[in-house]
Amino acid sequence: RRRALLAESTGPGRTADGTPVALLLNVGEGDPRKAGAHDSEGVGLLRTEFLFLGQAEPPTVAEQTAAYTSLFEAFAGRVVTVRTLDAGSDKPLSFVETGQEDNPALGMRGFRTSRVHPGLLTEQLSAIAAASLETSARVRVMAPMVSTPDEAAEFAALARRAGLTEVGVMIEVPGAALLADRLLPRVDFVSIGTNDLAQYTMAADRTLGALPDLLDPWQPALLRLVETVGAVGERSGRSVGVCGEAAADPLLALVLVGLGSTSLSMSAPALSAVRHALALHTRDECRRLAELAVAASSAEQAREAVRAAAHPET
Ligand code: PEP
Ligand code: MG
Repeated sequence: RRRALLAESTGPGRTADGTPVALLLNVGEGDPRKAGAHDSEGVGLLRTEFLFLGQAEPPTVAEQTAAYTSLFEAFAGRVVTVRTLDAGSDKPLSFVETGQEDNPALGMRGFRTSRVHPGLLTEQLSAIAAASLETSARVRVMAPMVSTPDEAAEFAALARRAGLTEVGVMIEVPGAALLADRLLPRVDFVSIGTNDLAQYTMAADRTLGALPDLLDPWQPALLRLVETVGAVGERSGRSVGVCGEAAADPLLALVLVGLGSTSLSMSAPALSAVRHALALHTRDECRRLAELAVAASSAEQAREAVRAAAHPET
């Protein structure tokens, strides 16, 4: 039994009945080789802000290309999902002029900054495209804070024009989740960012420490939005990942898979517990756990219902 458990805690993610669920890493600043050494199937979220934070000027295309190239080398043969610059709000950058904003989380942030600084995004896309030519990594690109199907289409057009072939967007605004049926056909994949999706669903500032109960990713309202996106993903054959903190909770990971997530991206320490939880449950069991969570009236109720019904070794 011990040996069986050890075997379950390495290699690709699978449910007990063999449904693949890619286990990916959230990556930011740090040594790419160290990130590449973890037992993951690739990168589900490359937070590229680290290249831009604390700089007086944006990095040049050549500097960016070099940084992306070393990251791709560390993940040769694996998928790397590069998120374009998520400036503004909780990630302010000195050279991105947003003007005076009373509510920066509702202002010029993420993909929206390309309205005022289009060059930042197009330069970044060309650097990612240039680096992708030098690698065996499967490079995907996605935009943060996309709110409408039109914005998704606009980003997809820009990325394809730069020469990138696998294009997606993050779902972290309730409006984008609610229109998943119109949005998903315009991209190749989506990835749900539960940190911001919780903030905007529950109207609770993620940078305030005072509202953890509202920001709890077990909130059934948040899970209903994941369900909406997951159902469209299953119908349309588009992959639906989750790259917010929710994916690192093994019990919640089961629920996310039950709601239609095909990949889960998290920080390295969470990988083996999530892999183990998946191996203990079939896809149908995940679906039943998801039904329990979505039917609850509170985060506590959802968590307790799933804990009581899941395999005790989760
Ligand atoms: C998220 O919002 O869930 C997410 C993954 O992106 P970030 O935390 O970088 O905003
Ligand atoms: Mg986000």
